Amino acid sequence: MVHVNENFLKLPESYLFSEIARKVNEYQAAHPEADVIRMGIGDVTLPLPQAVIEALHKAVDDMANSNEFHGYGPEQGYAFLRDTIVRNDYTERGIEIHSDEVFISDGSKSDTGNFGDILGTDNIIAVTDPVYPVYVDTNVMGGRAGELLDGKWSEIVYLPCVSENGFVPSLPDRKVDVIYLCYPNNPTGTTLTREQLKVWVDYALENKALILFDAAYEAFVSDDTIPHSIYEVEGARKCAVEFRSFSKTAGFTGLRCGYTVVPKEVMAYRKDGERVMLNRLWNRRQCTKFNGTAYIIQRAAEAVYSKEGKAQIREMLNYYMNNARVMKEGLLAAGLEVFGGDNAPYLWLKTPKGISSWTFFDRLLHELNIVGTPGVGFGPSGEGYFRLTAFGDKARTAEAMERIRTWKI
Ligand code: PLP
Repeated sequence: MVHVNENFLKLPESYLFSEIARKVNEYQAAHPEADVIRMGIGDVTLPLPQAVIEALHKAVDDMANSNEFHGYGPEQGYAFLRDTIVRNDYTERGIEIHSDEVFISDGSKSDTGNFGDILGTDNIIAVTDPVYPVYVDTNVMGGRAGELLDGKWSEIVYLPCVSENGFVPSLPDRKVDVIYLCYPNNPTGTTLTREQLKVWVDYALENKALILFDAAYEAFVSDDTIPHSIYEVEGARKCAVEFRSFSKTAGFTGLRCGYTVVPKEVMAYRKDGERVMLNRLWNRRQCTKFNGTAYIIQRAAEAVYSKEGKAQIREMLNYYMNNARVMKEGLLAAGLEVFGGDNAPYLWLKTPKGISSWTFFDRLLHELNIVGTPGVGFGPSGEGYFRLTAFGDKARTAEAMERIRTWKI
């Protein structure tokens, strides 16, 4: 008799975005004339930069030519892309990372989700709260989460990030082994300075813990005190794995490409205390379960780093960050308390008068025809907050803020 992995059965139905879609569809059906502005989903809207499009066309032509045709590629990614990444994202920023520490993938969702494959099931996991749900759900699947009680998993250590602590997580009050950090943060749009991040690196070094650092939004950082990479912090090469994505940086949500950095100094331990290089295990995992990112897509990712690519991407990021600025001004003018949005494409606002995230959602939809995401959907500490994204159209974003400016909440 075939048995299921019962850990999967512990997961509640993915409720957040389906519930949002249901509510919006119902509203639209009842009010077909309503001009609904969607600021909920974290997907990009601008088309791919021209340099990427040209690289895609050229790579397609390569595949039609017997001298340039590419079949299976290296599971870790082509050297042309790994070397380009190392040079641009690390060496030029004064960070030591080597090409064989970079693993190209089809995106950070897969890598942050799959990384648990090489970690023991008895590790104690810590997540910031609110959190990108993939970290939690994949640990539920991996049997590390315990039971769901009042919206929290019994074996997961939650690190609240709320306005009262400036969205800076405190060190845990019990020993943890794996810490997921995402900065700039989804959903709060907040960041950590180098000094604040160093507290976590020091903790990890002292406790032989591992930091899984999701830097999917690093391209949105413009403030010099905010690190783009955890490896800007001394000691991080010994205790941190970093995830990067081309999705938000370069509009690759539909193309699919990202990469994971596993420095050779990062160790985990066997039960008998013997050290094991995570680089070696991740390589083994990828070689067994992953057959590489498409050649065409890797050529497209390489073009992100060309002179033209960099300029076009800067323009794209500026477009979104201009939306974020307009949103922040509009929300503040409406008297709302708002966080994030300075070095991230997300704005995180406190719901006024203590109303719940879902009540705020309903009122925003019904009274202003604007869709956002209730904060509680990202974890218990998200209750009383609400996320809006800056990935929309400029004119529609401005229109949404006009509506909010004059709203009687
Ligand atoms: N990490 C975070 C924090 C995200 O918000 C997202 C996407 O929204 C991802 C990873 C997934 O990125 P990718 O498109 O590379 O899978």
